[in-house]
Amino acid sequence: MITSGSDDLMQRARRVIPGGVNSPVRAFRGVGGSPRFIASASGPYLRDVDGNEYVDLICSWGPMILGHAHPQVEAAVRDAAAKGFSFGTPSENEVALAEEIVARVEPLEQVRLVSSGTEATMSALRLARGYTGRSAVVKFAGCYHGHVDALLAAAGSGVATFALPDSAGVPDSAAHETIVLPYNDIDALRAAFEQHGDRIAAVITEASPGNMGVVPPLPGFTQALRDITTEYGALLISDEVMTGFRCSKAGWFGLEGVVPDLFTFGKVMGGGFPAAAFGGPAQIMERLAPDGPVYQAGTLSGNPVATAAGLATLRGCTDEVYARLEVVSHAIADGAANALSAAGVPHTIQWAGSMFSVFFRDEEVRNYDDARAQDTEAFGRFFHSMLEQGVHLPPSAFEVWFVGAAHDDAAVQKILDALPDAARAAAQG
Ligand code: PMP
Repeated sequence: MITSGSDDLMQRARRVIPGGVNSPVRAFRGVGGSPRFIASASGPYLRDVDGNEYVDLICSWGPMILGHAHPQVEAAVRDAAAKGFSFGTPSENEVALAEEIVARVEPLEQVRLVSSGTEATMSALRLARGYTGRSAVVKFAGCYHGHVDALLAAAGSGVATFALPDSAGVPDSAAHETIVLPYNDIDALRAAFEQHGDRIAAVITEASPGNMGVVPPLPGFTQALRDITTEYGALLISDEVMTGFRCSKAGWFGLEGVVPDLFTFGKVMGGGFPAAAFGGPAQIMERLAPDGPVYQAGTLSGNPVATAAGLATLRGCTDEVYARLEVVSHAIADGAANALSAAGVPHTIQWAGSMFSVFFRDEEVRNYDDARAQDTEAFGRFFHSMLEQGVHLPPSAFEVWFVGAAHDDAAVQKILDALPDAARAAAQG
């Protein structure tokens, strides 16, 4: 496969962009080698600057649930853009998108739109602190909530890929207010509340974690989060940036049904544009400015083009789309399991609805320590073999394999055909 165009661009990029990338996990550090520069994408395919085509299993890390350049979303974006790019005033699309989100996720009464998942969790945390008058926050090791200072401790996603304990540049004062606990451990949660309960403003959790690979809550864990936070007067923030509108029409909430105080959303609801949200009952949301004392704002919040893309995407997420995601995910996961078993590679596949990931170890993964015990080098060999055969996985062993409804039978078959060689490559340690 010729990659000279990508390699040249990476050289140029490294001169003017730190590490050559604008988000660390894109740099291939977890798997070695150099990234492909994508020139265009349609349906389930990415095309790089050298003309190589890949079946896409990144899907922009979640948003492209309908596939790339989906005609209805493209039309909505063109239509919105033709009417102006940003007004800095209220506009109808914002209302329509908020209504669509509130209609899908039953406990929601109000949402505030922002431009990234990071902004959503940062703002939800500020609101929880403002509402409770407390400052400490509980997060779980391996959960990633964006690059919010207080939430970078023991984070998943890129932080896991690089095995960073946490980030330089986060002041002790910010980290000091963060209590990091092992996921799926009710005893640790109870002990933390017994010790610090009167200082804890909120517990933030990924609704079903996907940033250390897919590690769903064990039965009863989310309910325990709900019960213990209620008992101590802390808020429960369910981060559905990844799971929202992917795991089901109503996200992970639609599958498990435990009601948090605040939700955060991103990815799918922006349809590939910068749009995200946080929300909850009016009684909490009204503490936000302009009605309340908790300040939160954004020049591009509720941007008319981004909200048009998000609205068209959510409206396109029909029952048929969710049914297709199930079929495609299971076909790919079954193929991966068969190929890895045949090659004798230890692996475990875990699910959250139709969202799945493949761990390169053969025991159940319940928390971040389990996830980190996998064979990331085997994954690296597997990844590169898939890439050479025209399938672009996320370049990290700690990520979801994202599928979209545009993954048709031909795209799925291309993945199935590539798996046996990749599994053999993984086995050759
Ligand atoms: N929360 C979760 C659960 C996420 O998966 C992510 C992004 N991967 C974020 C928050 C941050 O979102 P963004 O990258 O849009 O800031």
